[in-house]
Amino acid sequence: MSVSSRLFNIAPNIANQLLTYALDSPEQEVCGLISCDNDRQFCYPISNVALSPATQFEMDPAQLIYTFKQIRERKQTLLAIYHSHPDGSIQPSITDIQQHQYHKLLYLIISSGNQGVLNLGGYIINEDHTVEPVTLTALKQESS
Ligand SMILES: [Zn+2]
Repeated sequence: MSVSSRLFNIAPNIANQLLTYALDSPEQEVCGLISCDNDRQFCYPISNVALSPATQFEMDPAQLIYTFKQIRERKQTLLAIYHSHPDGSIQPSITDIQQHQYHKLLYLIISSGNQGVLNLGGYIINEDHTVEPVTLTALKQESS
């Protein structure tokens, strides 16, 4: 599971989880990490400790370290960083682009601004601050 093809399959249960977190926090950005093992994806919410959490996010450093450790111990692979935009936009803000440090990871932005309709944006933000869109598709779990 790689984003090198600029295409990413997100598991429906993870997409639903992200929407729920965003809906439960309409005033503040939510944030966290997504990992995977061979056949499943996992979501790790992390507290937003930014000074202006309505328009910015900063993952709690202690929780972030703990989550990295959990992902490593469970032999999962870190896939993505997500956060929500209460204003409904799925474009990375200038602050998002400037502060982003994990250039190999998928950068996911969730919007719940449109009456609970999930809107997800996927990007790779490069070291030189250029932004490449990633096409997101819903992963089919089982054939019916
Ligand atoms: Zn943002």
